[in-house]
Parts: sequence; C-alpha cells; structure tokens
Amino acid sequence: MKAAVYEGPRTVTVKDVPDAKVEHPGDILVKITTANICGSDLHMYEGRTSFETGRTLGHENLGQVVEVGKAVSKVKVGDWVVLPFNIACGFCKQCEQGLTNYCLTMQPQPDMAGAAYGFAEMGPYQGGQAELLRVPYGDFNALRLGEDAPERQLDYVMLADIFPTGYHATEMAGVKPGDQTLVYGAGPVGLMAAYSAILRGAGRVWVADHQPDRLRLAEEIGAIAINTAEQDPAEVVKEATLGLGADNGCECVGYQAHDPQGNEDATLTMNGLIDSVRFTGGIGVVGVFLPEDPGGDEAQGGLEAQGKVPLDFGLLWFKGQHIGTGQAPVKRYNRALRDLIAGGKAEPSFLVSHELSLDEASAAYEHFDNRDDGWTKVVLHPDGRSRRASTAKRGSRSVGGSSHPTVQELRREA
Ligand code: NAD
Ligand code: ZN
Repeated sequence: MKAAVYEGPRTVTVKDVPDAKVEHPGDILVKITTANICGSDLHMYEGRTSFETGRTLGHENLGQVVEVGKAVSKVKVGDWVVLPFNIACGFCKQCEQGLTNYCLTMQPQPDMAGAAYGFAEMGPYQGGQAELLRVPYGDFNALRLGEDAPERQLDYVMLADIFPTGYHATEMAGVKPGDQTLVYGAGPVGLMAAYSAILRGAGRVWVADHQPDRLRLAEEIGAIAINTAEQDPAEVVKEATLGLGADNGCECVGYQAHDPQGNEDATLTMNGLIDSVRFTGGIGVVGVFLPEDPGGDEAQGGLEAQGKVPLDFGLLWFKGQHIGTGQAPVKRYNRALRDLIAGGKAEPSFLVSHELSLDEASAAYEHFDNRDDGWTKVVLHPDGRSRRASTAKRGSRSVGGSSHPTVQELRREA
C-alpha cells in the first residue's frame, strides 16, 4: 500500500510499504479516505522529536472498515468511522476513568502512558496517511458515523483530533457562558478552541497570532483577532476588561512558539497567558511541550533542549490561576461533537484550505510547514477523491447554525 513515510528532517516521501493488516482479534482494518496533516506532525517533520525514520505519519484519520478481527462485535465491515488519535485499550486503570489520552496498555514503555498513530514516543503504531490503517481494539476506539459520512468527511475528520483538542483546551480552562477567553495560536487547534469557546457560550473570544490569513478565519467565526506583530495580547485584553484580564486562556501553540520574526521562545505563550488571564482564572494548555527537544536552542543554556520552560510561576501563583495540560482525551468529547456536526450546529470544515491526494503529501508538508499564506489545514485523500464539492453548506461559517437535523440524524445510534 502507499503511505507518507518520514525519511528525516523535512523529508516525507510517499512510497510502497507492507499492507496494514489485522494482527489481533480486537483489531479492525480501515481503508483511509481522509487523513489530515496536523501541527503535531510538523514537530516530527522538522526533526524536533525522536520520531523514527521509515515510519508512516498521520493520526487524524477517517475511512471505511474493510475487515474486522474475530473478537470485534460492534463495528462492522462497511461502517464509516473516525478514529481518535489516541489509541486506548478501554480496560486499564487510566481508560476506566476516561483518560484514554494516557492509556497504560497501548504504550509499551513501562514509564510512559498514552499511544497514538504515527507519533513520536506514543508507541510503535503506524499512521493513517496511507491507504490502510490497523486500528487496535476497534470496538472501543472507532467512532461510527451516520449515512452522511461520505459527503461530510471534511467535518467529521476533525473529530479525530483538533475539534476535541480545541474543545479540551476550553474545558481545562473552564470556559462558561459569558466568559471572556483568550486563545494563543490561530492554527487549526487554536481556531477549534476559539470555535469551541463560542459554542460553549463565551461572551468574547480573542485569538492571538501573527499570521494574517489565519487571523481572518478567526474573525469569520466571530472571534476578535490580535495580530501579535502589532499588538500585545495582554494589553488588548486588559484594556477591554477594566484591567482585570480574560476569564480564561487557551495555549494552542506549543514549545515551538516564536516571535513574529521567527525567533523561538517557548515562554512567550505561557507567560503571555499568565499575564493576560485574571486572578483565579484557568489556562488550558494543549500546545505540545516535550521533555526533550532534539532541535532545542543550546544558546539559552540548553534549557529548551532539556524541555525546560522558565515560567512566571510567581505571578501565576500570586494570581491563584490553575493550569491543565496534556494530550486531549478525544473519546470524552467526540460523540457529542459528532452529533453537533450531524445536527447542523457545528461545521469545523471551515478551516480546510487544501484537499490533496496522498501522492501530493510531500509538497503538502512543505507548504504547511512554511505556514505559506492560505495553507491553514491540509487534508489528504488516499483514494484520490476530493470531498470539497460535496461538503454540505460550504461557505456558511457561523456557529450554532439553524439548519434542522434530518430524521435519519435524529435516529442516529447513541
Ligand atoms: P500550527 O503549527 O498549524 O499552528 C500554530 C500557530 O501558532 C501558528 O499559526 C503560529 O503562527 C502560531 N504561533 C507561533 N508562535 C506564536 C506566538 N508566540 N503567539 C501566538 N501565536 C503563535 O499547529 P496546530 O495544528 O494548530 O497545533 C497547535 C499545537 O497543538 C501544536 O503544538 C500541536 O502539536 C498541538 N496539538 C496538541 C494536541 C493535544 O492533544 N494536546 C492535539 C493536536 C495538536
Ligand atoms: Zn493532530
């Protein structure tokens, strides 16, 4: 089968690899029709992780089941499914508590937790930027979709990662109706955090970034853009809140945060949020930070290379703020968010800028990694077919649209 394989820093090649197959009675085999490139893939693409050469990338996957293992009873061949990027067993101490983001069974390293497809340090699993994907414990991990799945793949594929991840940032930050929320990062995750905050009833949402094309999308969904090349988010937010600061903040950038000139400084977003969020406010950090950064700058005393980020902890403590961090437990949210999509209340496909065939993955990585103008979110189709034309309601970007669910959608199995 064809797959997008990591071959070293800034080199992704589409090549033939052995077919994925059912290896365990609980596995399902999925023919991938839509697989996204994620900002997390870029950390690996740039050689800024321990990701091994020769491995297939891709953890945002959707497709149709083509084979099921003997122990699979719920998922059937022919089902359309979207796969949470987390791979979880469903029966370990962590999964029992809904912490599928830190499953103990699927992570082979004894001192680690959490697994994912095609991801550094998250187990040996291959990614889904390929024609076929092996999904362990298919009954637990696959979220089945309704009959509208083939036409609405661009919406539903966002359930694999960025929509639940953005939502998780707002959950950890404690966004409530009427809140004023600051999001750092207008990449796909930041846009999904802003979208989620609006869905949760936030009164005012700001999105800070220095990429004008991405900030325009933030404005299209009703957020207020802060271009960090021109304005300091803390000043903007305090000015608008009688000096109090935002009720909550979401970090959607991660350890490769940089200034508008491109100089990396992992403290920028966290310390910006500690400054901007009010006393006792919450901060949700979904941007990735790593215990070791192979490409970290030695110039700053090697701190970055050691995964150390000097935080304004005194100010955080003094303000009584709380922080939530880590990979998102996608399964906690994906079913409810699926039904918001099915019911016409959410349309996360608004951020898709490019639909390409898997064969074009190499160039796609290059453009997305350069943050080239207009390259917001790249979707790859291993079956080569574009879904753009058939996506329902293109062009409408409002949150909580008024379209009514169909009877079929209402009868959707829980
Ligand atoms: P992305 O790289 O496309 O977007 C990041 C955005 O941050 C860019 O638009 C960039 O211009 C902006 N940025 C950089 N420095 C900034 C700064 N100092 N201030 C404000 N904005 C700044 O990535 P993405 O797909 O949106 O993902 C964002 C982060 O979330 C990545 O670290 C990714 O690995 C992580 N992520 C985490 C999870 C999780 O489960 N926790 C899931 C998916 C992605
Ligand atoms: Zn992702």
